[in-house]
Amino acid sequence: MGSSTFRLGLFGGTFNPIHFGHLRAAEEIAELMELAEVLFIPAAQPPHKDPTPVVDFTHRFNMTQAAIKDRPGFSVSDMEAQREGPSYTVDSLRQLHQEYGDRLDPYFILGQEAFMEIPAWKEFKKLFDLTQIVVINRPQNASEKAGRLLKKMISSKYSWDADLKAYTCPGKKNVFYRDVTRLEISSTNIRARLLQGESIRFLVPDPVREYIEKNGLYQKPAVIGKGQTS
Ligand code: ATP
Repeated sequence: MGSSTFRLGLFGGTFNPIHFGHLRAAEEIAELMELAEVLFIPAAQPPHKDPTPVVDFTHRFNMTQAAIKDRPGFSVSDMEAQREGPSYTVDSLRQLHQEYGDRLDPYFILGQEAFMEIPAWKEFKKLFDLTQIVVINRPQNASEKAGRLLKKMISSKYSWDADLKAYTCPGKKNVFYRDVTRLEISSTNIRARLLQGESIRFLVPDPVREYIEKNGLYQKPAVIGKGQTS
C-alpha cells in the first residue's frame, strides 16, 4: 500500500482577476508534482499590495470559482476572508494542518518573483517547516539568487538536489523548481486593458470575462476627469 499522505497544492494570490497564466501553471504543477488536488486561496486583504485597485474579495472568489468549476480536483477557499485583518500564508497553513491532520502534505505554489519576496512575509521562516514549496521557474535558473536566500535566511544546510530538482535541507521541507509553459499574462495588464476598454478575450476563461462584464469590474471611474472624452 502506498503512503496515505494527501498531496495538496496550495495556490495563493490576489487573483485580481484570475487568468490563464495562473490556471495553466496550476494545471502543469499539479501534473508534475502528482498533486491530488489544488486549492486556490485568494487573499482577502493582501498585505503586500497597494489596496486601491483590488476589487472585493467576493468578486475575486467568484471569478476564481467560475474559472475552475469544470476542473475536478481544483477548488477555491474563502479561509482568508474568514479571518480578521491582513491575510498571512502562515496562518492559512496552520489552519490547514489543523483541519487535515498528519496526512496533509502541502505544496505551496508560487512564482519566482513572489518567492524572492518571502522574507517580507509574516513568520517566513516557519513556512519552510509547514509546507513544501514549488517555485514556477526553470530548474537551471534556480541556483544563485534563491539558493543564497535560503542559505542566508533559513539554513546554511540547504543544498541543490539535481535529481529532485529541489533545494533540500535536513529537517526542512523541500523547495522544488518546476518549469511550466510560460504565458506572459498578468492581472495588472488585464486591468489596464479593461480600463482602456480593450478586449481581454483569450486571456481569461470566458466565465471570468462574462463575470467582469456583468459586474462592471475594473472599468473607468464614473467621474470623467478634465479634458477626457467618454
Ligand atoms: P498583478 O499583476 O496584479 O501583480 P499577478 O498576475 O502577478 O497580479 P497574483 O494574483 O499576484 O497575479 O499571482 C498569484 C501567484 O501566481 C504568484 O505566485 C505569481 O507569481 C503567480 N503568477 C502570476 N502570473 C503568472 C503567470 N503568468 N504564470 C505563472 N504564474 C503566475
